[in-house]
Amino acid sequence: MNRIIIYYLQIGFLTLTILQTVVELYLLVRQKNNVLKHRDSVPEDFSEVISLADHQKAADYTWAKIKLAIPKHIIDLTLFLYWFPFRGLDHLQKYINTFDLSQISKDMLLIVFFMLIHSLIGIPFKLISTFIIEEKFGFNNLTLKMMIIDSLKELALSALLGIPLLGAMLYIFHALGEYWWIYAWGLMTSFQFLVIGIYPRWIAPLFNKFSPLEDKNLQTDLEKLVANTGNSLEAVFVMDASKRSSHGNAYFTGLGKSKRVVFFDTLLKSMNPNETLAVLAHELGHLKHKHILKSLITSLIFSFLGLALMGYVSHKEWFYLGHFNKVQSAGSLFLIFSTAIEVYTFWFTPIQSFFSRRNEFQADAYAASERPAGDMISALLKLYKDNSSTLTPDKVYASFYYSHPHASERIAALKKL
Ligand SMILES: [Zn+2]
Repeated sequence: MNRIIIYYLQIGFLTLTILQTVVELYLLVRQKNNVLKHRDSVPEDFSEVISLADHQKAADYTWAKIKLAIPKHIIDLTLFLYWFPFRGLDHLQKYINTFDLSQISKDMLLIVFFMLIHSLIGIPFKLISTFIIEEKFGFNNLTLKMMIIDSLKELALSALLGIPLLGAMLYIFHALGEYWWIYAWGLMTSFQFLVIGIYPRWIAPLFNKFSPLEDKNLQTDLEKLVANTGNSLEAVFVMDASKRSSHGNAYFTGLGKSKRVVFFDTLLKSMNPNETLAVLAHELGHLKHKHILKSLITSLIFSFLGLALMGYVSHKEWFYLGHFNKVQSAGSLFLIFSTAIEVYTFWFTPIQSFFSRRNEFQADAYAASERPAGDMISALLKLYKDNSSTLTPDKVYASFYYSHPHASERIAALKKL
C-alpha cells in the first residue's frame, strides 16, 4: 500500500511541477503576444491621455520583463529537478549528517544552505532587472553601492530575526512531541504580529526616510477622509522611494492605533492634491471593508491548516520517499513541505487573484463615494502611465495573475459610479 502511495506521490509531484512551468511559460507567451500585437495603437478609451510613445514604451517594458522571467522559470525548474528527482537534497543531507553536530544544528545548516543557494541564483536576475531593464526604461535610481548596502542590511535582518525563529521552530519539533505543530503555529503567529508591530517604526526606516507631509492643506483634507471611516491614523508619511526607483505607489501599514499611510514621494510629485486624496480614499476603502484584517485572519487559518498537515506527515515515511528523500529529518521536512505546498497550491492562484481584484473594485467604489470618481480615474491613468503598465494585457494571463483589475475594467467600473 505504502509503495503505491509513494509511487503516485512521486509521479504527481514531478508532473505538477513540470506542468506548472509549462503553464507559466504559456501564460507569459500569451501576454507577450497580446501586448506586442497592440503595440502600435493606443486603446480608444485612453487615446486622449496616453500618447503612442508612452503606450509603446509600456509594451516594450512589459516584453523586456517577460524576457527575463522566461529563463528564471526554466532555472527554477532545473533547480527543482536537481533537488528532488535527482536527489540533490538527499545527498546534501547525507553529507551534513557526517558532521559532528547536534541534530538541530544539522537541520539548520541544511535549511540555511538551501535558502542561500536560491538567493545566490536570484542575484544575476536582480542585477539585470535593476541595471539593465529598469535603467533602460528610466526607472532606476539605484547605484551598485546602494544595492550592496541594501542587501547586507537585508541579510543582517534575516539573520537577526530568521535564525532565532528557525532555531525555535526546530527546537519545538524535537522537544514537544506529537503536537509540536500547534506550538509552532503559536510561535509563528506571535512572530508575525511582532514583525507587523516593529516593521513601520524599526524596520522600514532602516531602508528609507519617512517624513511628514509638507502640504498642510492636504494634510487636513487627508485627516478628514480618515475620520470619515471612523478610524484614526498615527500619521501620514512621505517615503523617499525616489532614491531607488521612480515607480510610484502608496501603502497602508500597522495595526490598531499605529496605522499609517505611506505615500511614495514619486507619487506625490506626479499627482495633484485631488488625485492624492482619491488614492488615499482607495487605501481607506481597504480599511473600511476590513480587507487587511480579513487577509490576516485568512493567513492565520491557512498557516494553522498547513502546520496541522505538516504535523500529520512529519513522521510518515511515505511523505519523505514520495518527495524523493530517504533521510527523514526536521530540516528535510521543512524544505520538502514548503516546496510541495507551493507546487500543490499554485493551481489556486486564479482564485486568490479573483478575490484580490474584487477587493480592489470595492476599494475603488469606496474612493468614488468619498471623492469625485473623476479624480480616481485620472490618478489611475497617471499611475499606469508613470509605471509603464500595459493597457492591453492578455485576458487569460490577467485573470490568472493580476491582483488588480486591469486599467479599462477599473475605469469602466468607476465611470458607472
Ligand atoms: Zn488597492
